[in-house]
Amino acid sequence: MSRVRELFETMEYGPAPEDASLAKQWIESHDGIFGHWIDGQWSQATQHFESINPATEKKLAAIGQGLDADVNAAVSAARNALKPWQELGSNGRARCLYGLARQVQKHARMLAVLETLDNGKPLRETRDVDVPLVARHFYHHAGWASVLDSEMPNTSAYGVIGQIIPWNFPLLMLAWKVAPALAAGNTVVLKPAEYTSLSALYFAELTQNAGLPSGVFNLVTGAGETGRTLASHGDVDKVAFTGSTQVGREIRTLTAGTDKGLTLELGGKSPFLVFADADVDSAIEGVVDGIWFNQGQVCCAGSRLLVQESISDTFLSKLKQRMKTLRIGNPLDKTTDMGAIVSQSQLKNIQSYIDGAKKEGASCWHTETPLPESGWYFHPTLVTDVFSAHTIMTEEVFGPVLAVMTFRTHKEAIEIANNTRYGLAASIWSENINLSLDVASKIKAGVIWINSTNEFDAASGFGGYRESGFGREGGREGLWAYRKSLSDLPPDDQPPASAVAPVVANPTSALDKTSKLYIGGRQVRPDSGYSRGVAAYDGSLIGTVGEGNRKDIRNAVEAAHGASKWGSASAHHRAQVLYFLAENLEIRADEFSQRLEMITGTDGDLQVKESINRLFFYAGWCDKYEGTVHQPPLGRVVFAVPEPVGVMGLICPERDALLGLISLIAPAIALGNTVITIPSESGALVATDFYQILETSDIPAGVVNIITGARPNLASEIARHNDVDGLWCAGHRAMTAEIERLSVGNLKQTWALSGDRNWLDASVGQGTEFLRRATQFKNVWAPYGE
Ligand code: NAD
Repeated sequence: MSRVRELFETMEYGPAPEDASLAKQWIESHDGIFGHWIDGQWSQATQHFESINPATEKKLAAIGQGLDADVNAAVSAARNALKPWQELGSNGRARCLYGLARQVQKHARMLAVLETLDNGKPLRETRDVDVPLVARHFYHHAGWASVLDSEMPNTSAYGVIGQIIPWNFPLLMLAWKVAPALAAGNTVVLKPAEYTSLSALYFAELTQNAGLPSGVFNLVTGAGETGRTLASHGDVDKVAFTGSTQVGREIRTLTAGTDKGLTLELGGKSPFLVFADADVDSAIEGVVDGIWFNQGQVCCAGSRLLVQESISDTFLSKLKQRMKTLRIGNPLDKTTDMGAIVSQSQLKNIQSYIDGAKKEGASCWHTETPLPESGWYFHPTLVTDVFSAHTIMTEEVFGPVLAVMTFRTHKEAIEIANNTRYGLAASIWSENINLSLDVASKIKAGVIWINSTNEFDAASGFGGYRESGFGREGGREGLWAYRKSLSDLPPDDQPPASAVAPVVANPTSALDKTSKLYIGGRQVRPDSGYSRGVAAYDGSLIGTVGEGNRKDIRNAVEAAHGASKWGSASAHHRAQVLYFLAENLEIRADEFSQRLEMITGTDGDLQVKESINRLFFYAGWCDKYEGTVHQPPLGRVVFAVPEPVGVMGLICPERDALLGLISLIAPAIALGNTVITIPSESGALVATDFYQILETSDIPAGVVNIITGARPNLASEIARHNDVDGLWCAGHRAMTAEIERLSVGNLKQTWALSGDRNWLDASVGQGTEFLRRATQFKNVWAPYGE
């Protein structure tokens, strides 16, 4: 017995390199020089840069540097192809996507080898993970193309989509972007990352084999500047970006106020939690996959290991043993666990994080496994003696570096896990499913794996909370990002006339009562000490309201955070509160109607009636806007749960003072958000009357806060506030552009909607579009069967 055991321990793998000659022949067939793929053919590039094999530091090919003219040509090809592509119909598009999936499978080996040569990741991963997932993505979305018309009625394609992707999963990121965009009836211009263009270039040729009409998929290679040109192109209808949070911010700023759709899939610093009752051996394998898969260059890498204190010594000593068995070297060798880092500059970045960690007092440990003499390699590294505030615990290293902390209780584990500005993923290890699901519900991240990590499937949404971006990729959730709701009208070009109705600052008239602000369930005086007059339709002064400022917004945000339990209240309870609001409004319908008449000069009955209806509508939705259960082709089940966005700012429309206010508040609170509401300026008195309805309707303090004052200024204050998670702005373009620009601080989700829509018309004034915007999906992967 002991001999067999010894054999296993000493047994060495022999080398098993994959043959790369076919991939090299394909590069040579292009003379080692590539242009762009535009309108179904190669277009010569005028400038080039080198693509280097990170495992050998040798040049692989010369890649075209996309200039303005190339981007223009690609966008115009995509524009021209749009109509015929849409006329092809759902079946025609489905066949093309199916054809792409088949092509990927037929060329799987070539694609895997090219990816490994270009990126440095082990062939075992490109062959067994990247390429099969790419094929699955195209198959899945071929299905979506077929069923789209019946599954997503009242929506349309965006048009031309500009897509920008990173280098860590070059082909997989291409598939995540291109498949849903095409399935949803859009055409595409894609810019891959400068380090890794080869698999995308090969894919371009496959589109022809698959019968994709010319111009539907266009590829412009190049560096960041090419991406910037694409993202700011005037004829691009939507930008879909995956990459760093820093560049995500730049793209948010570039697209602000342009009406372009935008989704951002950004970085992460994901926690990997191991509880004392975990299956330790499985958890160790989980860590290996969580941080050393793809050399740790994974957006959702479990780069923060949090281990329960009682098992931490044993766990870390086992982990070190396991690290000693990791094979580092030639990525083309099928027995290699860890290949090369994508570039020399990325290698330097990783080293500088290690140097910084040491300076901050951390201990860094790695195995003595020799690294290859040439190529950009880095040892798998364990960093201990760190605290939450250490840079290595807060910033994305994007390399094979694992920082470790311990926790005592499960409450503390959640606190440490959420102590990050990111929110992409988390991995939870425990044999207690009750504990795991409780922790899963409390971690603020878009993807949670229970007793597993780094699992992906085309049907399950992937994407982040907070500064990890917004939008999802995969499944129905991801498809929404490529369809526009037909009722979603863009902001108005001009401020509505009523917005400039006469207001009197600090009136000194004999009016005895100034309506206050409503913060934390109480009527409070504005911090400024100022009030503003509100005029009747004939210009006469009918009352005064408080002039809110930054401090009032700050207090309201604090109150809204304090009311976060509302999000975990039962949907039934929230519905009851909304029904109660409706009832109380009905009791005072005449009063509201008269107030509206005073302001607008027209009968207010209809607006009040519709406001009551709207409250009923969203009360009805409270317990019906539910998630999905995905069944990925693995021993798992994935619960996709719509969670509230969190604390939301609502900039109400200027027109329809009562109905506009309720049309934003009701869907947001129905699904568990707490809100800071900025009402119509001309109709501010209606909002202040509404406090009394709130006070009598069992709405917990802080769930709805209302600040009167200058809408654009207050909107900007909310947009700047880093503790606000989402912001809806029903207003004119200048205001929405400003809030989009200012929202980059914490990358809050924004929705610029037309304030001038006819709120009385239920087909545009209410609907599931509002509910979708009030939620973000969390996908929880749980074990289910073998
Ligand atoms: P990056 O942001 O540097 O580059 C991403 C892409 O943007 C590249 O194609 C690059 O050329 C382009 N780009 C750079 N500057 C640009 C600009 N100013 N305007 C437009 N485009 C520009 O990121 P990276 O280093 O290639 O990739 C690593 C990052 O990607 C990590 O932060 C990682 O977490 C993130 N990532 C996220 C996901 C996700 O789904 N959330 C997936 C993979 C990677």
